[in-house]
Amino acid sequence: MEQRILHGNLTPHDIAQALIARFNRGNLRAQQIGDEEQVIVQIATRHGASSGGQTATTITLQAVEDGISVGMGKQEWLGVAASLGATAIAAMRNPFNLLGRLDDLAQDIENLQINQQVWETITHVAQIKGATYELSERLRRVVCEYCLAANPVGEANCIACGAPLGLAQPRTCPRCGFVIKAGEGVCPNCRRALPF
Ligand SMILES: [Zn+2]
Ligand SMILES: [Zn+2]
Repeated sequence: MEQRILHGNLTPHDIAQALIARFNRGNLRAQQIGDEEQVIVQIATRHGASSGGQTATTITLQAVEDGISVGMGKQEWLGVAASLGATAIAAMRNPFNLLGRLDDLAQDIENLQINQQVWETITHVAQIKGATYELSERLRRVVCEYCLAANPVGEANCIACGAPLGLAQPRTCPRCGFVIKAGEGVCPNCRRALPF
């Protein structure tokens, strides 16, 4: 399961709607289950699709503090692999057989890219809504341990009482949006090495 967090004014419903508009057509079928807090979107090959092998993927959208968490399961691709295999075998026997499977081949290649297209769709909606993998302005506050004043991120000392704010500054992984603690050199979520 690959997980990313988007910070900003974004709801699970916003993403679910965009995914269904994008994927519920052609040989694919997309549906959503859930409520306002958590929505699950399933994208699968339509039963009796005219071309290509079977595939399915599940996206879990969860409301979190000031944004949403997006989890994507590994795409099931066994049906696609079997279909690609049939195409290869047919071509070995007689190259002219490939002509009869061009539709399948095109659909299989498209199916293999569903997860990538899902991330593209989500990133697109996030851009429109102004959400990013970075902390939103509303979370860009460091609370002083001594006087509880809210300080902007980056201040070395509390603007109210002057106490040192130390390493309490939050930041996020630039790839997946996971909130990183001070001193962490690798993102605990996606394992990306982080700049200091
Ligand atoms: Zn203070
Ligand atoms: Zn990360």
